[in-house]
Amino acid sequence: MKAIVIGGGIGGLCTAIALQRVGIDTEVFEAVKAIKPVGAAISIWPNGVKCLNYLGMKEPLRALGGPMHYMAYQEYLHGQTLTRFSLDPLIASVGERPYPVARAELQAMLLDTYGSDQVHFGKRVSGIEETSQGVTAWFEDGSQASGDFLIAADGTHSAIRPYVLGHGVDRRYAGYVNWNGLVTIDESIAPADQWTTFVGEGKRVSLMPVSDNRFYYFFDVPLPTGLAEDRSTACADLQRYFAGWAEPVQKLITALDPDTINRIEIHDIEPFERLVRGRVALLGDAGHSTTPDIGQGGCAAMEDAVVLAIALQTNSLGIEDALLRYQEKRSHRVKDLVLKARKRCDVTHGKEMAITHGWYEELKSETGERILSGMQETIMGGPLA
Ligand code: FAD
Repeated sequence: MKAIVIGGGIGGLCTAIALQRVGIDTEVFEAVKAIKPVGAAISIWPNGVKCLNYLGMKEPLRALGGPMHYMAYQEYLHGQTLTRFSLDPLIASVGERPYPVARAELQAMLLDTYGSDQVHFGKRVSGIEETSQGVTAWFEDGSQASGDFLIAADGTHSAIRPYVLGHGVDRRYAGYVNWNGLVTIDESIAPADQWTTFVGEGKRVSLMPVSDNRFYYFFDVPLPTGLAEDRSTACADLQRYFAGWAEPVQKLITALDPDTINRIEIHDIEPFERLVRGRVALLGDAGHSTTPDIGQGGCAAMEDAVVLAIALQTNSLGIEDALLRYQEKRSHRVKDLVLKARKRCDVTHGKEMAITHGWYEELKSETGERILSGMQETIMGGPLA
């Protein structure tokens, strides 16, 4: 049995690794010549970590993960702590810890595990054709590839999604802009073992430790789309948007390297139930695009990969049946994640300021119990809970 995997991001590579492990031949086709992940880092929550463990990456992942042991929210004007608690109860309840990792390093680990020689770079799919025997993909350079089935892990702008759904979908602007990057840890900004978030005015500034003494930082600001801002204006833009915020935030903005700041307008896609048509399946952001507000988009792609491989490995009624079982197992889960993230997004980013102020008030009495129980529920919804 041979699978054609379109897209060499988190979803495509996890899928290729997972299928390879159950004895299915795979080839990955990636549009760009060298992958430059959008965003500097990613938090892999225990549901995602368990998938990577299952796919044989337990040890290398540990080496990439930052020492995130605590979580804290700080008030924006003076930096006072609203709440601070240990992540240990969460880890004990779900059986694994979270790992914030630099994206380039995650990508390199996935490529090493799969074998980068099996990835065909510079192959942008332009069309696919399905028969009762298999699927052929055509690429913009005129070449083609065929397999028994095709996994479309070609991201949020998926070229293959309209084939599966029978129609196009619009991405929905979530109402805020995110700037992110990596910076050397400075403990006068935030503790090195803590996920620290400053909140106020519907904005946030967050720092998470990744390996090698670096913070993954991000800034969120509710803004209209299409502003004339980019990397070259980022430091001045952040100084303006965060004028008057506490000293650690000012210090962080001063420490940023403007050449490595990413600026992203955050979108999601209204969840849809269909992930499969015949021998073609959507996976990762192609099948479910979420805002990053609960840090689950990449983790969901890892879950997809594991569930898909198990469905194909354990089924004897054929590929189409196995793919439908994958869809059955995944569509409610990913819909739930997208809608949870959207809800969190609206509260965090001041969609209704009264609700956001209510949340700031709640944080003052938060012991960790409410936040961790929400996280636990999300994590335990994964396939390897
Ligand atoms: P992608 O990473 O988009 O990969 C798709 C690949 O397909 C790309 O390499 C692309 O070049 C290729 N491709 C596209 N079109 C074609 C074509 N026609 N032919 C061939 N190849 C093609 N998730 C988490 O789990 N935790 C987090 O903390 C987190 N933080 C985030 C922060 C931000 C700011 C953002 C924007 C997202 C965050 N996410 C997070 C979500 C996560 O990044 C995505 O869910 C994940 O990268 C999706 O992986 P993917 O492989 O499905 O898609």
